[in-house]
Amino acid sequence: MSRSFGLVVETDKCLQLYNSLGLSSVASHFCVASSIAKIQEALTYAKAKQLDIMPLGAGSNVVFASDLRCLAVCISILGIKESGSNGGTPNSVDVRFAAGENWDRAVRHCLSQGWYGLENLARIPGNVGASVIQNIGAYGVEISDRFISLSAVKIDTGEIIILNKDQCRFSYRESAFKQLLKDKFIITHVTLRLSRIPIINIDYPALTHYFADHQGEISSEMVYEAVSTIRQSKLPDPDVLPNVGSFFKNPVLSASTLAKIDSKDGRTKGQIPRFEQPQGCFKVPAGWLIEQLGLKGLRYGAAGIHAQQALVLVNYQNGKKDDCARDILALARYIQEKVLATFFIQLEIEPRIYGSV
Ligand SMILES: Cc1cc2nc3c(=O)[nH]c(=O)nc-3n(C[C@H](O)[C@H](O)[C@H](O)COP(=O)(O)OP(=O)(O)OC[C@H]3O[C@@H](n4cnc5c(N)ncnc54)[C@H](O)[C@@H]3O)c2cc1C
Repeated sequence: MSRSFGLVVETDKCLQLYNSLGLSSVASHFCVASSIAKIQEALTYAKAKQLDIMPLGAGSNVVFASDLRCLAVCISILGIKESGSNGGTPNSVDVRFAAGENWDRAVRHCLSQGWYGLENLARIPGNVGASVIQNIGAYGVEISDRFISLSAVKIDTGEIIILNKDQCRFSYRESAFKQLLKDKFIITHVTLRLSRIPIINIDYPALTHYFADHQGEISSEMVYEAVSTIRQSKLPDPDVLPNVGSFFKNPVLSASTLAKIDSKDGRTKGQIPRFEQPQGCFKVPAGWLIEQLGLKGLRYGAAGIHAQQALVLVNYQNGKKDDCARDILALARYIQEKVLATFFIQLEIEPRIYGSV
């Protein structure tokens, strides 16, 4: 452990408690940054030691494939408050969230304040900072639907900047932070525009079904509870069975690509489920493709495909020093090859992979 301007940097830190897959990779350097000043100190430290920076939230969307030579910076800035502006709409409220806030705690806090619009995103693991990296989404809502701006520290200069929605280039599980702006910023705060009037969105089929027999009014709190219940019944709890949620993105294909796929193979012709998206594209459920191959429940070494959720890969050896990352990634490759060979669709891995096996 060493100290630089009050920043505590640990060396050879096991990351097992810092990722929801429970992988026991070691970061050569590790620190916790609870303020913008601490982040800037960490950047100075990393520059002096010629280390790459790896920002970390709750580690629920990362795969550590090996030990890492880097400075892992656990972002733990806290605070949620009204930002003062509301875009001139009296029923709107702009709320500024610090990046280290737990996402679900933030959603519940908003509900308790009468700030509505995040209920459908209940119980998504992780922290606020990373929520914009992959534009988290669930049950018919994406964070980009509420996004106004974010503050970030530039990794190369330490300068603080503000980015608006256009600059973040959000799309399904995507943002500029995975493309053009990858590894260039540490997000410190996110501002979302919420509503003082409940926004009830139960159009997503699972939610429509949940409320099908319900008589009377539906409140935002009821939507929060419904989403929580549905999620708990469908997804394995990472504390019990380590995982990163969906391991693959649902492919978004153009109508012409889908038509070509339909015509290539008699078995799949017209059968692949598809959900219309903007700009004439279609989202295909990756879990359905994997399920059709009979792979649910398949185990490979320490890794496995969850028995109920074909999109979720799990680590069966949490807590042991093992080669689980290798097994997880080998299993992912196997699934990708099988899906490509059968359906002519390339599945893309959703979590960020650090290091190599
Ligand atoms: C059981 C389960 C269910 C899930 N369900 C969903 C779901 O329904 N919808 C969905 O969209 N996702 C889902 N996820 C994925 C995950 O919850 C989200 O991606 C979440 O936003 C990750 O947050 P995190 O803090 O854990 O990020 P981390 O895993 O710590 O980091 C993810 C990436 O963001 C970067 N990062 C983190 N913080 C910052 C920062 N402050 N500045 C810059 N870069 C940063 C990291 O370097 C890394 O590249 C699920 C995951 C699990 C385990």
